[in-house]
Amino acid sequence: MLVVMKNDATEEQVDAVIQEIQNMGYRGIPMPGAQRTAICIIGNKGPVEDTQLRAMEGVKETIPVTKPYKLVSRETQAESTVVTIGDVKIGAGEPVVMAGPCAIESEEQALTIAGLVKEQGAKVFRGGAFKPRTSPYAFQGMGEKGLKILRKVREETGLLTVTEATDQDNLPLVEKYADIIQIGARNMQNYSLLRLAGQARKPVLLKRGFAATIDEWLMAAEYIMSGGNTRVILCERGIRTFADNTRNTLDLSAIPSIKEASHLPVIADPSHAAGRRDFVIPLSKGAIAVGADGLLVEVHNDPAHALSDGMQSLYPEQFAELMQEIERLKKCL
Ligand code: PEP
Ligand code: MN
Repeated sequence: MLVVMKNDATEEQVDAVIQEIQNMGYRGIPMPGAQRTAICIIGNKGPVEDTQLRAMEGVKETIPVTKPYKLVSRETQAESTVVTIGDVKIGAGEPVVMAGPCAIESEEQALTIAGLVKEQGAKVFRGGAFKPRTSPYAFQGMGEKGLKILRKVREETGLLTVTEATDQDNLPLVEKYADIIQIGARNMQNYSLLRLAGQARKPVLLKRGFAATIDEWLMAAEYIMSGGNTRVILCERGIRTFADNTRNTLDLSAIPSIKEASHLPVIADPSHAAGRRDFVIPLSKGAIAVGADGLLVEVHNDPAHALSDGMQSLYPEQFAELMQEIERLKKCL
């Protein structure tokens, strides 16, 4: 349930409502908006008896929330969330491009690719230090050494950084070194990891699990938000279907679906969806055309020798072409 406050409600009146919700055995989370302040009630297992709340000073009305998720819902917050990190705004209208290798392989590799993608207009550098690999024999990432390289990339280029936390042990390390904590498709329903990410002070990029419905994905985001971390960015990265022409199927309909159901920003990862570099540019354009707030793209200076996902990594020239295509598309849109 949402308790909507009057436009001229005072801070004391808002606090009194939160206190009353607490007395009822629930939690009240204020959702300040440009138009109104609403207080979202969480922790109730059934309908909330709202007679007392409706009678309180400053309260305009109460509205039942019909969806299983609350804090991430557009019913709770009508205005779209903009995640601001430094001077980069995700969800503010301008698509934000995050690019880099699948994995950090060396300082030289990371700095080379970071320089290339920055020159073309990327705002965030991606690169895995802890890699969730299907095979235990495949390259598992450089670990903390990789995170130190990521920090160096930030210092030398000024690019923000995003990298994956694969478990509860490495999440605090990722939080220490990176600007955005990525939670991968395989961990979308790892609830203890989501809870820990909810306590983090850095934004979280939450990928969609490859067999997750939109509601399951949003419930995963709800875990993070209910822990107190409101800076969540969703990422559609392709789901498993019967189609075998691509590694996964990029679900473009997920983008407007998320926009309708949630106020959170949503970006697309065409690289893990396609699994092949020749589809990355067309899928990127599709994602932006349907309203994605940005892209997460794999780029490598030497894809043939990449330690992971070389097949889907763009050559630097292709990344330059992608950025030019995005500029053209923006004009059409
Ligand atoms: C990645 O972005 O490096 C990655 C492993 O992606 P996903 O979790 O979508 O497979
Ligand atoms: Mn990858």
